[in-house]
Amino acid sequence: MSVNLQTPIDYLKGVGPSRADLLRSELGIQTYQDLLNLFPNRYIDRTRYYKINELQRNSAEVQIVGKITGFREVAQKRGKRLVADFRDDTGIMELVWFRGQKWIREQVKTGQTYVIFGKTNWFGGKFSMPHPEMELQKEHEANLRSAMQAIYPSTEKLANRGITNRIVTKIMQQLFLESKGRFVETLPDSVMKDLKLVSKSEAIFNIHFPKTPELLAKAQFRLKFEELFYIQLQLIIKNLIHKSKIKGFTFDKVGPYFNRFYKEHLPFDLTQAQKRVLKEIRHDLGTNAQMNRLLQGDVGSGKTIVAFMSMLMGLDNDFQCCLMAPTAILSVQHYQGLKELCEPLGISIALLTGSTKTSERKIIHENLENGNLQILIGTHAVLEDKVKFKNLGLAIIDEQHRFGVAQRSKLWRKNNLPPNVLVMTATPIPRTLAMSVYGDLDISIIDELPAGRKPIKTVHRFDNNRLKVFKFIKDEIALGRQIYVVYPLIQESENMDYKDLMDGYESISREFPMPKYQISIVHGKMKPADKDYEMERFVKGETQIMVATTVIEVGVNVPNASVMVIESSERFGLSQLHQLRGRVGRGAEQSYCILMTSRKLSEDSKTRLQTMVRSSDGFEIAEVDLKLRGPGDLMGTQQSGVLNLRIADVVKDKDILQEARHYAKNILNKDPSLAAPEHQVILNTYRQMSKYRNIWNYIS
Ligand code: ADP
Ligand code: MG
Repeated sequence: MSVNLQTPIDYLKGVGPSRADLLRSELGIQTYQDLLNLFPNRYIDRTRYYKINELQRNSAEVQIVGKITGFREVAQKRGKRLVADFRDDTGIMELVWFRGQKWIREQVKTGQTYVIFGKTNWFGGKFSMPHPEMELQKEHEANLRSAMQAIYPSTEKLANRGITNRIVTKIMQQLFLESKGRFVETLPDSVMKDLKLVSKSEAIFNIHFPKTPELLAKAQFRLKFEELFYIQLQLIIKNLIHKSKIKGFTFDKVGPYFNRFYKEHLPFDLTQAQKRVLKEIRHDLGTNAQMNRLLQGDVGSGKTIVAFMSMLMGLDNDFQCCLMAPTAILSVQHYQGLKELCEPLGISIALLTGSTKTSERKIIHENLENGNLQILIGTHAVLEDKVKFKNLGLAIIDEQHRFGVAQRSKLWRKNNLPPNVLVMTATPIPRTLAMSVYGDLDISIIDELPAGRKPIKTVHRFDNNRLKVFKFIKDEIALGRQIYVVYPLIQESENMDYKDLMDGYESISREFPMPKYQISIVHGKMKPADKDYEMERFVKGETQIMVATTVIEVGVNVPNASVMVIESSERFGLSQLHQLRGRVGRGAEQSYCILMTSRKLSEDSKTRLQTMVRSSDGFEIAEVDLKLRGPGDLMGTQQSGVLNLRIADVVKDKDILQEARHYAKNILNKDPSLAAPEHQVILNTYRQMSKYRNIWNYIS
């Protein structure tokens, strides 16, 4: 009988209540199982001993054999530190203690040979090691050494309370003793054989106490696969349940609205990608399961026309449709653009935002309920309970990351059946990642820009070249073009950013004086009505320069704007820079993006700027962004607990992710309820996971 892995960690020999509390609060370890799943960050070679003259200044962990030749106390700002001289036959270094000094003085003897272990610092022309782990050489030699000793995740508090890596390793050893190292298998035989995976017990042992690098690699592969397999399984099951249970409206015919528009009014030829995506949407809408589709397309790829033509499918089947955008500015633009397309077809369309007058609002409400209104465009205002449709068949959400899942689900309550949902985003998320984040959505991608677009020329300029940049802007304005100048506005330092913006606005006003030049300014502290007014002036071409914070990042379409100047661009994330750049290059003229920075740049900032200058491919940029920032920071994924992975990395391990998805899919295809005896192990593991881990709650 193996131990029960759900046993609270307090019961493990060597842990006790105070350590248990720390393990819980610092590392979230509640049970034996959680401890087993505390996977090492890395491994170091404990059979290797360094000489002091071999030390490098990179502060890695090393072990050294030597003797303490003397102690001294050094006064510092608060209290004092204890310093020991430590020598071997090649040199001398210092050991340092900031705490527990009395104990060290009593326990540690000078003149005896010790093996010390820890991180070294290069400080004041000498190497030093703070709070080394120490063992007398005699004792040290009695213990087994591994060429790959696990280094576990830790926190400052754990280190301060004496829960060192050595202690964690000891506790882990104790757990293996009690459980005899035997753990229940969690993957089915067929998969194990197919992929030649090592068993669960072998993997768990070798991840903590690897015997050889090969065994470690096998253990890592197996555990990564397992982790990703169960996540994919969960996502696919959710998707299946969704498809089978949630009936949606069926749009079974393609009728006159769609056909007439396509034949007579389409203003341009659709790109291949647009056609493909329309087919995918058409297929979804033609089935009786509710559509839940994510449409990804880089800025300027032409998502709006796809949205419009999808709505026409709805109208052809006598349903109402709505399109929601995250800002009033954007809704107004959509409304104006789509109204023109609706007119020749005789389609009724209205706009509803926070600033719609009460009298108009009343009319809209009425016409929605009696079915006279066919298309509603708007902001969050559309979600209000007062807004009732006669029969909403399709809801489209533009720029998805500004809408939460809760808001998506609000839409559902507008009918007896949930409307079909199309979510459009310009934040490119690599497909592999999208799969694990938006597993409940089907994904369509427009991966092609309309023909004839001139690539935007992107350059990086230092602040002291500003005069040349101003000159360039003047030349462009003289050609009749318009200019954006964008400042960062980052929440924590909002007031300082606000000052930067105002200073910038002033210097631009001086450089571009009225009445020859007109300047708009838009920022988050303005009233929505004032924002709209300023924006409107720019859209109409009454102002040549738009000074703004990132509020204009989303979706605004001013084809005559040809220059995007981004101030302090080193402070923006890559995907944000890419979104901003997408505001220009929408017309026939050559467009430019100028990234302004100071001379002081971090390595990451340099990489970001170089990437922007080199590439205009949103997906490539997203991949670089992901590597720089890690998936947790990716816009729109922060809330997603799915990415809290223990061992796998959705970027680095994307091949394993794909493999795991492939297997999960195949198994569920053949055996959707996991009823076959060979799948019993999956079902058990799956139930266990949903019972003890609630990461699934985050997904949808
Ligand atoms: P986004 O995907 O960023 O929302 P839009 O839908 O606003 O892009 O389209 C950007 C611009 O490209 C619009 O002016 C639109 O009319 C135009 N456009 C869209 N599709 C095509 C196409 N197939 N050929 C030419 N122009 C197109
Ligand atoms: Mg758009």
